[in-house]
Amino acid sequence: MTTVGCCSPLTEARATLADAFFRRFPCLANHDTRCSIYLKLVVLVLHITLVGVVFLFDADLVQQTKQHPWCTVIFVIVFLAALFQYFAMCCSSPGYVVDAMREVSKMYNSAADSSTLDRRQFVSITEDLNFSSTQSISSWQKVVTDLYPPGSASRHWACDHCKIIRPPRAKHCNDCDKCVLQFDHHCAWLGTCIGKGNHCQFWWYILSETVLCVWTMALYLSYTRSHASKEWWQYIIIIVLFVILSMSLILFVALLIFHTYLVLTNQTTYEFTRRRRVFYFRGIPAKVHPFSRGICENIFTTCCSMGAVYKLETMPSIEELEARATPYTCVDIVSCRCC
Ligand SMILES: [Zn+2]
Ligand SMILES: [Zn+2]
Repeated sequence: MTTVGCCSPLTEARATLADAFFRRFPCLANHDTRCSIYLKLVVLVLHITLVGVVFLFDADLVQQTKQHPWCTVIFVIVFLAALFQYFAMCCSSPGYVVDAMREVSKMYNSAADSSTLDRRQFVSITEDLNFSSTQSISSWQKVVTDLYPPGSASRHWACDHCKIIRPPRAKHCNDCDKCVLQFDHHCAWLGTCIGKGNHCQFWWYILSETVLCVWTMALYLSYTRSHASKEWWQYIIIIVLFVILSMSLILFVALLIFHTYLVLTNQTTYEFTRRRRVFYFRGIPAKVHPFSRGICENIFTTCCSMGAVYKLETMPSIEELEARATPYTCVDIVSCRCC
C-alpha cells in the first residue's frame, strides 16, 4: 500500500521547476548543459554589463570619450578581443589522440613504399581514415612505443575508455570522452579541454581578460572620484560590480602567473598537481621537468608551433634526466643552461 503525502504535488512542482531551470540555464556541475549556448550568453551579458554600466552612469567619461576618442577606441578593442578569444577558445580543439592517430595512419598509408619515412614529422589532415585496419593500429603502436624510453612498462599506456594506446602526456577527459594530447585540464567555463592544441591560445585569453579587468576597474575608480551627480542605487550597483571584477581579477592574475610558469617549464596543470600519481614521473628527481628544453624553446614549442599539434614528444632517457638534475655551476649560469 502506498501513501501519498500532502506535500507530494508541491515536491513534484518544485522538481519540475528545477528541471526546467537547469535545462534552460547552464550548470557548471553538469557537463551536458554547461557548454550550452546559455553559458556563452551569460558570459556575453556579464561582459557587456560590467563594461556598459560605467559608460551609462559616468557622464564625465562620455564627455572625455567625445574629446579623446582614441582611448575609448583602444578600450573597446581590448573588450572585443577578450570576447572574441572567449568564443574562439570555446570552439578550439585541444588536440585529440584520435586525430594524431589519423595523422599517423595517413602518413603510413601515403608513405608505405617510402624508405625515408620520418615518423615524428606529422602534418595536419582533415580527411577520415579507417582505424580498424590492422596496419593503422600497428603503425600507431610503433610510433607510441618509440616515444617511451626502452624498457618502459607498457601497462599504463592504454586508455580503458577509448581502447587506444596513448603517447606520453596524453590523458582521457571524462567530459570530452576522448584522450587529449598534453592534457592540461577541462575548463567548464569554456566547455572544452585545454591541451597541446590550445594552451597558448588559453594563455592569451587569460591575458586579455586580465587587461580588461584592470582597465574596467580603473574606470570604476575614476567614476567614484568624478564630480558627476550619483544616486545611492548607482553606488550600490557599482560596488557590487566592482566586487565581481575584483574577484575575477584575482582569479585571472593567479591563472596568468600559474600558466606562465607552466609554459616556461613545459608542464601541464595535471602533471603539476598529480606529479606523484603520473606514471611517467616515477623515479624522476623532484625538481626536474622531463619535457623542458629550456625557457626559450619551451615558449617556442607552446606558442609558435601551431602547425605541429600532432608532433608528439619523446620521453627523455633516465641518463638525460639525471644530467638535468645536476646542480648549476658558474659555467651553467654564464652559458644560460636554463634557456
Ligand atoms: Zn581515452
Ligand atoms: Zn575535456
